[in-house]
Formats: sequence, structure tokens, C-alpha cells
Amino acid sequence: MKRFWWIALAFVMIVSIVACATPGGGRARTETADVIVIGAGGAGFAASMAAHQGGATVILLEKLNAVGGSTQLSGQAFNSVNPELQSQLTMTPAHRANIMALVDKTPQDNFERELQQTVRRQLEEFTAANRPGLFDSVEWHALQTYNGGDYLGNTEMVRTLTANAPATRDWMTANGMQWSASSNPNVRIFTVPGGLWQRANRPEMPLGTGFIDMGMKYVHANSDRITLHLETEATEFIVENGRVTGVRARGPGGDRIFMANRGVVLATGGFSANVEMRQRYNDMGNPPLWGPGLRNAQTTNPPGSTGDGILMAEKIGANIVGMEWIQMLPLGDPRNGSLSGNIEKGVEDRFFVNKDGDRFMDEGGRRDYMTNALLDQRDAFMWIICDAQSYPDPANDSNNFGETIVQLVAAGRAFQADTVEELARLIDVPPANLRRAVDEFNAGVAAGTDRFGRTLWRIRIDRPPFYAGARVPTVHHTMGGVQTNPGAQVLNRAGQAIPGLFAAGEVTGGIHGTNRLGGNALADIHTFGRIAGTNAAAGP
Ligand code: ADP
Repeated sequence: MKRFWWIALAFVMIVSIVACATPGGGRARTETADVIVIGAGGAGFAASMAAHQGGATVILLEKLNAVGGSTQLSGQAFNSVNPELQSQLTMTPAHRANIMALVDKTPQDNFERELQQTVRRQLEEFTAANRPGLFDSVEWHALQTYNGGDYLGNTEMVRTLTANAPATRDWMTANGMQWSASSNPNVRIFTVPGGLWQRANRPEMPLGTGFIDMGMKYVHANSDRITLHLETEATEFIVENGRVTGVRARGPGGDRIFMANRGVVLATGGFSANVEMRQRYNDMGNPPLWGPGLRNAQTTNPPGSTGDGILMAEKIGANIVGMEWIQMLPLGDPRNGSLSGNIEKGVEDRFFVNKDGDRFMDEGGRRDYMTNALLDQRDAFMWIICDAQSYPDPANDSNNFGETIVQLVAAGRAFQADTVEELARLIDVPPANLRRAVDEFNAGVAAGTDRFGRTLWRIRIDRPPFYAGARVPTVHHTMGGVQTNPGAQVLNRAGQAIPGLFAAGEVTGGIHGTNRLGGNALADIHTFGRIAGTNAAAGP
């Protein structure tokens, strides 16, 4: 009898080992879905939603104990042409000059030439028809994106991003995304720093929480077919006969295997929080984009942005592109590099001064240009200056991060004064200099230009109270990553799609070139997240 129990026990153990055996050997609990999505940021949620809508069951993996990624901490701006709202804005001669400067320049290649011709024709039609508001078109968005990345973005990816961004916004709206309902069109659609044009659609909720809220609500509403695993870190792909069929992971209960009937979507974000990795790739640049300012910088992004997905994909032969292009912003909190505490509401509503109270750049310029200008200032430190027009209702009006100006002033993160000179004394800059900076800015509003060539103007800064908030350079986005095609398929080093593997979001590279336009990331991650999810659900 005793012998029987030993035999029975051995039998049970063998069966359980076989049940847990993995394609590569070892023991781990296995779960299967049609589509496995890795990373629960904006791209991962968009991919999960689209895959579900494509009829797939989905498992969504997130290595941290909370969803959201850097999407959640972002500055809200979703770039997409929006004729309805933009028709309510103001177009100045400086805006027109801005367009003509890009349209008239010698084209870099045929892609730029075609865009220039189309935009020129569109602007002529816009003018002839006497259309109200601010001109915009997907081609103008594409031209600015391509030029803003020094022509190093992939043209098909730029075209796909800009052409699909409006449809992505509509798809998100249909799936519960809430956009600002302000009665002021300049609130609903704004110019984000480095966005170069007033086309950033503003969500109702602060930071990027609205995007993640939409995703979480969708996952909860469809929890019978979408399963979210937190604290589950993908570690390597499972490849069978050249096709990615699953992923190994480490979960709370130990090693895990997730098998995909149809496809795997990589959406693990960038590597801003991996200091060694970002420095190594920056130093490979020819010349490096950043000097010592990068090593010392903090980041706007959460600790999960460590580049895991790029390393995993590289191991199975994915092509990695643009890794040396790392985006820094001049807009970090001096204590921790985060975006929060930033008092600006939009590019046109503010300007910057250094520790001497002097302006030192075109505050509507590209992000790389603005950060370099800040790095040249004493202690790489600046103040954002704005006035009451940014906060007409100070107790209730919040910045892009959900903080009211009253809270920021009370916390010592912003300063408030009834005169420019008093504000100067509070922030310890020479009052005469700050006065000169304000006058210079206001003269620029009237002239439509200034000594820095600024072209984005709207309001004078002249309504008390005046506000100041401190900012320093911070690492914000890594433009490099796995190369994908317009179908979000990951390409190998021979330029062929790796069967079964899709990628979207900051983990991808090659779209934005050397410098991503502000507001293009949220458009990028959701557009390609949606494409990746749809195509993964379509299966082999
Ligand atoms: P994107 O903007 O491209 O969506 P995010 O940074 O918003 O990028 O989201 C990426 C998410 O992926 C983050 O929540 C991050 O914690 C998660 N992540 C990163 N590496 C892994 C990994 N190895 N396994 C699972 N999740 C990961």
C-alpha cells in the first residue's frame, strides 16, 4: 500500500512537470491568449483595446505595480489637426511667415518637396476662401515633423503618424476619451513646448491620466477577454520556427510563460530612466547630441523606462535605430526633474528668463534648441514668467498637471507678485532686467518677431498678478528603439518583418529623427498602438 502511494505521488509530479514544461525547458506557469501586449502605458492600452476590437483575447503585462508608464506623467498634448477647433483660433502674419519659411526652403528630398507643394497650395486655398482661424493640415504637420527631426525620421512612418492622428483621436473619443470642454478654444487646443504649432488637443484630465483612465475603463469593461497582470516583467521572447509565439516573464509567483495564438505587441516604452544606457548611446552620436548636461540630468519619466523591450527585441535580431537621439526638455522641476510644477499653460502665454532676469531664446523653438540654450545659462537654470491670463480663476485653474497656481505658490514652487519689479525681488533677479524682458516680450507680440526670431505670439504679459516658476533641463524621451514599418511590424536587420512581433510607442525608433516635436508622442503611441493591436489580432 505504501508503495502504491509513492508510485501515485511520482506520477502526479511527472504530470505536473510536463504540464509546466516550457518550449525552452524549465518550469513556469503558462497562460495563453490570442494577443500578448507587453507594457501598460498609452501604447499598450491602445494595442490591447484594438486587439480586443479585432476579436482577440488579450493578456496585458506590466512590470511595475501600477499602470500608466511615462504616458501617465506626460504633459497632456495630443497633436492632431482639428479643423473644428483651429477655425476658432487666430492666425497672425508671423504664423504665415513661419509656414512660408518652411515651404520656400530648398527641399531636402522628394518627400519634403511634395509636402511643400501641397502645403503651399492648401495655404493659397485657405487664403483665397478667406477661411477663419489658424491654418493647419496633415501635410503641414508632416512637414514640421520631418523638418523638426532634421530629416532623419522615416518618411512612411511620418506620413502614417500625421495622416492617422485625427482618426486616432476620433477612435479614442468613441472609446470614452474625454477632451477639454473649456469654452476657450485656446485651452482646448494649445501649443505645447517644442510643438511648433497650435495643434495639441487637451484632455479633460490632467497630465496623461485621461489616456490611462480610458484604457483602464476599457480593460475593466472587457475583463472577460482582457487580463491585466501587474508586477509581471517580460524578460525574453519565445521564438518557434522564426515566429514570435510568446514571452517569458517574472511574476509575483515566479517565472511565467505567456503564449500568443496570434501575435505579441511590444509596448515597453523608452530608456530615459536607464542612465547608463542613455549615456552609452548618446556618446555614440557623431557628434554626441549632449555633453555632460545629460549625465547630470534627472528624468520626467517613471523608473520603469529602462529600455527592456529594446534589449529583448535586439536579442532576437530586431533592427535598432536612432538610439543616440535622446530628447531633453528645459522644463524639469529643479528637485526631481519631473514635469509637475510647471506653471506654463501654452507656448504663447509665457517666456523664460535666466538668473540675471534676461530672456535668452526663442521660447517657441524646438526642444533640442531650447534645452541647449538653457544649458548655456548660469547653473542651467531659468524662470518661466506668465501673468493672470494663464490663471483667471487662481483657486481653481490648474496647470497641465492638475496643480492650481494657489497650491503651487503656497508650496513655494511658484512665486506671485502684483508688479514685475516685486516678482523680480522675490526670485532674486535684477528688477530692471526683468522689466526689460517683459517689455521686450510685449514688443515682440506687437511686431510678430524679436531678436531670437520667435514667431509664436498671442497675448501681452501685462495683467497682474505675475507668476514665476523655476525649471532645469531634464531627460524626457528616447527617440531610438526597434524599427517598425507602417503596419507596426518589427523589422529585423535585413529589413524583413519578424513574424508574430509588433511594436508601438516609445520602444520604437526611426519616426522622429533627432528631435521629436512636442505633442507628437501621444499621437504616435496611440496611433501605432492601435495599428499594432489590430494587426496582431489579425493573426498569422
Ligand atoms: P509608451 O508611451 O510607449 O506607451 P510608457 O512609458 O507610457 O510607454 O509605458 C511603457 C510601460 O511598459 C510602462 O508602464 C513600463 O513600466 C512597462 N514596462 C517596461 N518594461 C517592461 C517589461 N519588461 N515588462 C512589462 N512591462 C514593462
